[in-house]
Amino acid sequence: MSDFLNRNDHEGPEKNDLYRVNVRVPVPVDRDFSYLSDRPLPLGALVAVPFGPRTMTGVVWDVGDKQDPNASLDVNKLKHIKAAIPEIRIPDAVRQMVDWVARYTLTARGDAVRLVTPPAAVFQPEKPTHGYLLMDPMPAGLRITPQRQTVIDFMAAKGLIVSVSNGSEMANQPFQNALSSRALQKHAEVSAAIISGLEKAGALMRVPLPTPRAVQAPKIGDGDLKFTDQQLSAIAGLRAAFKDPNRTVAALDGITGSGKTEVYFELINDALKAGQQVLVLVPEIALTEGWIGRFKDRFGVEPGFWHSSVPVHRKARLWRGVANGDVPVVVGARSALGLPFPDLGLIVVDEEHDSSFKQQDGLLYHARDAAIVLATFGQAKVLLASATPSLETVRNGREGKYAWVEMRERVGQSVLPTILAVDIRDNRPAPDHWLTPPVVEAMAKAIEQGQQSMVFLNRRGFAPLILCRSCGHRIQCDHCSSWLTLHRLAKEVRCHHCGFQTAAPETCPQCGESEHMAPCGPGVERLADEVVRLFPEARLAVASSDTLGSSQRLKELLDGLSRGTIDIVIGTQILAKGHHFPGLTHVVVVDADLSLYGGDPRASEKTFQMLQQVAGRAGRGIEKGLVQLQTAEPDHPVIQALLSNERDQFYDTELEIRSKLQLPPYARLAALVLSDTDENRVDDACRQLARAAPGDIEGVDVFGPAPAPIPLVRGRHRRRFLMRCKNGVRPQGALSRWLDQVSLSSSTRLTVDIDPYHFL
Ligand code: ADP
Ligand code: ZN
Ligand code: ZN
Repeated sequence: MSDFLNRNDHEGPEKNDLYRVNVRVPVPVDRDFSYLSDRPLPLGALVAVPFGPRTMTGVVWDVGDKQDPNASLDVNKLKHIKAAIPEIRIPDAVRQMVDWVARYTLTARGDAVRLVTPPAAVFQPEKPTHGYLLMDPMPAGLRITPQRQTVIDFMAAKGLIVSVSNGSEMANQPFQNALSSRALQKHAEVSAAIISGLEKAGALMRVPLPTPRAVQAPKIGDGDLKFTDQQLSAIAGLRAAFKDPNRTVAALDGITGSGKTEVYFELINDALKAGQQVLVLVPEIALTEGWIGRFKDRFGVEPGFWHSSVPVHRKARLWRGVANGDVPVVVGARSALGLPFPDLGLIVVDEEHDSSFKQQDGLLYHARDAAIVLATFGQAKVLLASATPSLETVRNGREGKYAWVEMRERVGQSVLPTILAVDIRDNRPAPDHWLTPPVVEAMAKAIEQGQQSMVFLNRRGFAPLILCRSCGHRIQCDHCSSWLTLHRLAKEVRCHHCGFQTAAPETCPQCGESEHMAPCGPGVERLADEVVRLFPEARLAVASSDTLGSSQRLKELLDGLSRGTIDIVIGTQILAKGHHFPGLTHVVVVDADLSLYGGDPRASEKTFQMLQQVAGRAGRGIEKGLVQLQTAEPDHPVIQALLSNERDQFYDTELEIRSKLQLPPYARLAALVLSDTDENRVDDACRQLARAAPGDIEGVDVFGPAPAPIPLVRGRHRRRFLMRCKNGVRPQGALSRWLDQVSLSSSTRLTVDIDPYHFL
């Protein structure tokens, strides 16, 4: 990386030596910017350019005037690029994907390029590091102290020796076998001064160390696992599908615990054998400790790791490693899609149905869809793995667009858990209790038998509402139309929409009474209180984003569950995914109906997927598991499908409903959310939009405006429109024409969300 071109001190070569390049810069405009370079740069090259007062990292998207240096362009007006790394290119397929994302989501090109612009640290070559070798023979008359002697003994024992006769030519070669001063200090237990003293005395030779690789090379070849017949046929099925050059996507549809991970590891191995790179997209990176461990067991090394909280210098190293092919496998969150893989062979989307693949703010793209686009442009393959595939994927499978491979049995002796509904209307919990008698009984039994229970409630904090029983006042957020959640451990109330928090009120802000402030409804903290009262001896853990702030704490919790030092865990959806706890035999869903309603057309699908995932945590060891769903609606199709394990029947019914109601995947939706601090202004904007709405276009319906389900967030009043396009009608065209006709006040914000997943 060291030969980058530094143009800070630009003197201006003759105009004929200059090349014009069009650079895409991560700024919110829908165009590229022209710059000059004194050498031709390939498409996709990374450049640093002056932009206003700043220097920004951009990508050569287009070469102006076909690199004609004499193009009719006022060269003097253009600025020069400051630096370029032509050897790191954003591959064509990645750039095509970025263009697609911009077009599909109606996002300015400059905003979409953020997907691929790396941290600026990529431009800084890594600082060279040095190590030491022991000179042989040592200089005559070297003064030996006990500490010097330990260093010499240690290095001699390790063979860290260089013979003086060829020392001078070695000094400039990176030397794998040398040790840094820090490593020597640690191993020989001496201070830095001892090492530098030895160097000055001529006893140690200083040699450059090779730049550390972002990751070590994986061990490619057969694993140790003996596959089940079901796994073998799944592997064969996927291989056959990917042999077909016209086939980009295959779905691996296997129940929880069927051994999908080991199956797709085999496909990863195939790609690595062919010299290709692999990207594994996972929904929540914090939860992949177990996954990393298994990858290590299979491939001997850790994969590259990419998500928002990876430190910048590691990101830069990984980025370069991906670009130069040193990093064969990356596991990452959504944003890993923008990495510059020059030779991507396979993208695995694990838990492909997970709605966190759809970005919620900023660039509103869906990573699964973008992955398929990337693979199509780059001739790679996509493997979508899930126990509860999305309806979009199911439909594509049924119509033959995706190859489909199923796994219907669990690995080994583990069998699917028994799933029972507990009708809360017939099994009332005690007042201010939330666990029904049958659930408490099953927990007692699990504890008695030395097994674990998991209590699932997707609600953080102690109680979702504080009510004054004297005057009826509900404690609300000052900035949103939402109640404040009581977090009793923190002695605070918090708004889960805007993050506002304040001390929990002791008296009613309306009537001043202090005796009647009543927390209503349960959160995980409150359930923990209940469980402590019921089972004072049990070892209890609470798992939510509040209690598991750091990945360290999550790791401790997962360890505790695996080792059996926790009897009962109470948690939110943070616990639902992917984990494998052999001692967990009992799962309780406290409120199975919680997410069934609301304005989200995917509510049934999401609830089904989430509860199926939660249920899938039970009985993954030898004991058969028991799952209890507390519900007031045991006859609801979602609950029924879970109870009878008639998954495909659920898909049939739900697809039929979607088709009848003309909802995705049988139509496209686009949500428009308008917001303004001034309520009148947002209503004006709505009237404008309503007047211009494309009501007369064949196959397009517009609903709204309506107040959003949470009409006030962070002091902004929110209204929604929903546009629905029949299959075959692209929403982008109708939307662009619609939005071109309105001009909104600068304070009014408009968000356009194609294929919305969040309906708040
Ligand atoms: P899934 O991803 O479908 O939920 P996993 O791949 O996590 O399933 O497998 C479930 C468990 O079974 C894991 O502990 C895994 O190590 C183990 N496993 C998978 N395949 C085999 C096999 N062929 N033999 C023995 N154990 C296996
Ligand atoms: Zn009151
Ligand atoms: Zn708020």
